[in-house]
Amino acid sequence: GAAPAAAAPSRHVAGEPRGPEAQLEETVRPRTFDEYVGQRAVVDNVKVFVEAARLRGQALDHMLFCGPPGLGKTTLAVVIANALGAPLRQIAAPTIEHKGILAALLTSLKDGDVLFIDEIHRMSPVVEETLYPAMEDYRIDLVLNEGPHAQPITLQLGHFTLLGATTRTGLLTGPLRSRFRHVARLDYYAQDELTAIIKRSARLLRIPIDDDGAREIGRRARGTPRVANHLLKAVRDFAEVEGEGVIERRIADYALGRLGVDESGLEEMDRRVLDAVIRKFDGGPVGIESIAAAVAEERDTLEEVYEPYLIQEGFVQRTPRGRVATRRAYEHLKVPFDGKKGQGELF
Ligand code: ADP
Repeated sequence: GAAPAAAAPSRHVAGEPRGPEAQLEETVRPRTFDEYVGQRAVVDNVKVFVEAARLRGQALDHMLFCGPPGLGKTTLAVVIANALGAPLRQIAAPTIEHKGILAALLTSLKDGDVLFIDEIHRMSPVVEETLYPAMEDYRIDLVLNEGPHAQPITLQLGHFTLLGATTRTGLLTGPLRSRFRHVARLDYYAQDELTAIIKRSARLLRIPIDDDGAREIGRRARGTPRVANHLLKAVRDFAEVEGEGVIERRIADYALGRLGVDESGLEEMDRRVLDAVIRKFDGGPVGIESIAAAVAEERDTLEEVYEPYLIQEGFVQRTPRGRVATRRAYEHLKVPFDGKKGQGELF
């Protein structure tokens, strides 16, 4: 996403990139619809909206992109702005600390400019309310001075397009959500799409790789382009130091093992979550707070990054009473699956 680089080194594969990792992303980030792999349904619609806006000579309607980190929300915003031939301004919602920052940002936008707000579910309520009239009528209402000399003013804005991104649709307020004309959900990528992304990145980064090597990484990249690119780079290190320099299947498999990415593409934290649910909580149902405490990870990170993939892959089920480990999770951890345990309470 557009979050500014923080000082802390990356602790896990799946989260937001920092430092040199963020630079790698810029090198391989697609700039055009043709380069943007997958998400066909979303992309085909977006193309129509972009073309319609161009034909009418009007600003593109505001759009919201949802989905786990690393699936291409920021990239889609970059691609859209390029297609419109418009400048893209990027900001992460938590850095808009007060109305003034938003006002300065909005008043700098001209007709047709595109503003990308990442993590838009994390905007403060005051800032969010300032955004409503900006989205609807291209105006902001401010109050100059305070106390008895307070003076309300209205500023007219350029006809800009807001592209919002969120990992947590459920945390968006109704009023904000309803002000987006289109809401698009990005899905995890298919293996062959990830393989294509890896081959493209390898070409751009001049990393020698064969088809089977690319496929092996794609298969274990948890459906996420950001993870695929990260793994490609890490596997390259092993290929250079401990292999023949070329990434082929065997060295990819070996390197991924060394990196803690298992046969199913699960990372260390995924396995700790499954292990906690199964061994500490008897297979569930168990609340997310309890899991977070057991694995010493932030609840938000579990909900945004790890859980969606574990659910998508059928390792965990979400029930009204909490998370439940499935038979697949037991089999993955090689723990005997007792059908009555946890699961049994469901039915
Ligand atoms: P998000 O904003 O959803 O967290 P990004 O758009 O920053 O994710 O994507 C992370 C990286 O993954 C990008 O730098 C880009 O190189 C790659 N990527 C994302 N989506 C695609 C795609 N559809 N095709 C090719 N590469 C992609």
